Amino acid sequence: MFFTVLTIFPEMFDPFWAHGIIRKAIEEKKILTSTINIRDYARDRHQVTDDRPYGGGSGMVMKPEPLAGAIRAAAQTVPEAKTVLLTPQGQVFDQRMAQELASWDGLVLICGRYEGVDERVCRDLVDYEISIGDYVLTGGELAAMIVIDAATRLIPGVLGGDQAAEKDSFSDGLLEHAHYTRPRIFEGREVPEVLLSGHHQEIEKWRLESSLMRTLLKRSDLLQKKTLDRQEIEILKKWHHVIKSLIQ
Ligand code: SAM
Repeated sequence: MFFTVLTIFPEMFDPFWAHGIIRKAIEEKKILTSTINIRDYARDRHQVTDDRPYGGGSGMVMKPEPLAGAIRAAAQTVPEAKTVLLTPQGQVFDQRMAQELASWDGLVLICGRYEGVDERVCRDLVDYEISIGDYVLTGGELAAMIVIDAATRLIPGVLGGDQAAEKDSFSDGLLEHAHYTRPRIFEGREVPEVLLSGHHQEIEKWRLESSLMRTLLKRSDLLQKKTLDRQEIEILKKWHHVIKSLIQ
């Protein structure tokens, strides 16, 4: 996967590329990355990338020519790459979308600034619009990092064998189970006994219960959307009986 980021602040990405799983993915050539400074495609002497909005009003708008130049330069490097504009008006990013992006060959991410991007660029040169949530950031750079981070960890081979992403929250419609590590007793609280038992099947059962319980308590909306299997239904029925007996 080739990520190309178009931004007026390319230096924001230097520490991002240099740490953790992203750094490892670059070193192992699971991903290729590049940043293009939109300013380099401005045509005037001062390399201006914004201008006043037609029709008046506050704020500035990203000029179309530098952006179009940067998008076309990116397309020359990876012609099959899809172009994504980060915008609060886009489709809200989620794990399913991260999974889809992880299977693409290339992604060109456009980071807006000011009041956003000239509409003609959005309409003619952008394949998808992605939002990272219903709030407004000052620029698209953090949003681009979120998209790159979430997609990269789903590219086969990026996470080590013991860090499988398929058990993560949202991948099967549930939140992931609770985690514990040493010490066995921390400030008087013990690790659940079953996790020390070495009984693989019981541990898996406990994890599924933990996963269901957390989803019910923290994100019951996810359960509404999920198709439950037999084992999950049995667990919920068991709780249903317990809760019923408590309130009777
Ligand atoms: N005036 C725009 C609006 O109300 O839709 C918001 C512009 S915002 C101040 C500047 C840039 O930040 C946007 O062009 C976009 O690239 C980025 N941005 C802000 N919020 C975002 C979000 N929730 N998701 C993705 N990108 C966002």
